[in-house]
Amino acid sequence: MRCPYCRGDDSRVVDSREVEEGQAIRRRRSCSACGRRFTTIEELVLSVVKRSGVTEPFSREKVVRGVRRACQGRPVQEDALQQLAHKVEEAIRSSGMAELPSHEVGLAILGPLRELDEVAYLRFASVYRAYSSVEDFEKEIADLRAAREAEPVGEVADTGSSGE
Ligand SMILES: [Zn+2]
Repeated sequence: MRCPYCRGDDSRVVDSREVEEGQAIRRRRSCSACGRRFTTIEELVLSVVKRSGVTEPFSREKVVRGVRRACQGRPVQEDALQQLAHKVEEAIRSSGMAELPSHEVGLAILGPLRELDEVAYLRFASVYRAYSSVEDFEKEIADLRAAREAEPVGEVADTGSSGE
């Protein structure tokens, strides 16, 4: 890393600390040539391995694009897409893997997308899981219904309110 003042290419680290919960390291450096100080940030890069074997950095924007396509015409706000992408990234980072196959990214998208919008979820899943027949959709919809029924619905907690 060259000094931003004199372009000298030699510096020493005077301080380093972890930031973003250990996902990045911030280093304070002192240029050996001019003595001025500057800061560098070293970040853990999540790599996605595509089916072709090519590796590329994980991109939240790419997740948003993929999900946005599935959400066309659905009442889903841009905010919600950003939040979903954030959730996906968190899930991937917390898995502790530095490199993961692209289908794992798709897998991490399915859960939060199902909560966001069921139609968009079906669209996304149909591409991702390469549904080949109406039966595949029927099965997925049956699963959706089952999951919905398994959730407790609107039970109002008894607050044991005032006696007399
Ligand atoms: Zn310098």
